[in-house]
Amino acid sequence: RAKDAGRGVFRTYEPELHVQAEERRVLEMALRTAIEKGEMHLEYQPVVDVGSGAVRGFEALLRWTNPELGSIPPSKFIPLAEETRLIAPIGAWVLRTACAEAVRWPSDMRIAVNVSADQLQNPSFVTTVTSALTNAGLSAERLELEVTESVFLHEGLGATKVLERLLDLGVRLSLDDFGTGYSSLGYLSRTRFSSIKIDRSFIRDAAKGLREAVAIVRAVIALANNLDIATTAEGVETEAEHRMVQDFGCTMVQGFYFGRPLPVEEARALANRGWKASAAA
Ligand code: C2E
Ligand code: MG
Ligand code: MG
Ligand code: MG
Repeated sequence: RAKDAGRGVFRTYEPELHVQAEERRVLEMALRTAIEKGEMHLEYQPVVDVGSGAVRGFEALLRWTNPELGSIPPSKFIPLAEETRLIAPIGAWVLRTACAEAVRWPSDMRIAVNVSADQLQNPSFVTTVTSALTNAGLSAERLELEVTESVFLHEGLGATKVLERLLDLGVRLSLDDFGTGYSSLGYLSRTRFSSIKIDRSFIRDAAKGLREAVAIVRAVIALANNLDIATTAEGVETEAEHRMVQDFGCTMVQGFYFGRPLPVEEARALANRGWKASAAA
């Protein structure tokens, strides 16, 4: 097609590629020093128990604001951090910060931290987790690591072994964004997951009444129940969506309906207030 359009095409197309490469270079440079310059912080989104309405814990979500570039969404900088291997030091900072915060909450509350597949390729990640827990004085059972199915794609690199060693520490694992990737039920029998997080897109479609989505959400919840694995519905925004996942027997919910990701002080206040979703609804 480019050939048919003749040489003119390149005049519009090449500068754009150049801009993209330049933007990426600028972003990468800024990302390299973002932690040391104090440009990163975490927000904490409540995860609520469906049965009791109590807050079970929080998911730590990384935020980056650069003085020149402004606020950059995780969907943009996390993939870049993965490609440039900056995810290891950034991820270590996230773990240390999140564990240090969680000790300030009631002792039954958990902290969930997202972990990229790349971080699990390196056996030293186990040490990173151990020292984050030790430095904070947090017990391992309170830490939940969220991984996606992409972790299992490069089996040869030993991610499963690293997951096993993390489980030996007493840390919990959850399977994030379930249904969006290369879902294979085999993963569920191979690794001991404490919970499955059902991706927001399924919750949305099922609540709209899309037959396939309804069937999938119900089946995933039933399967997890039979395997003694908890389920978390992600991205619940409306009362209707909440009622649906409650009817289906989902264990936990997370979404704007219960609470957006909160600044650290607000999350801490919420954690210590013993807030219940039913009281707020
Ligand atoms: P995720 O782990 O699936 O996190 C949930 C995302 O859904 C968050 O987006 C959250 O703000 C958003 N969300 C929660 N409830 C709702 C809702 O009701 N409606 C809608 N529309 N969205 C909702 P966020 O913070 O932009 O993060 C995006 C992704 O970036 C995360 O998806 C996670 O995969 C990744 N991420 C964030 N922080 C970290 C981190 O510290 N390390 C790594 N490796 N990845 C991270
Ligand atoms: Mg997550
Ligand atoms: Mg995710
Ligand atoms: Mg998710």
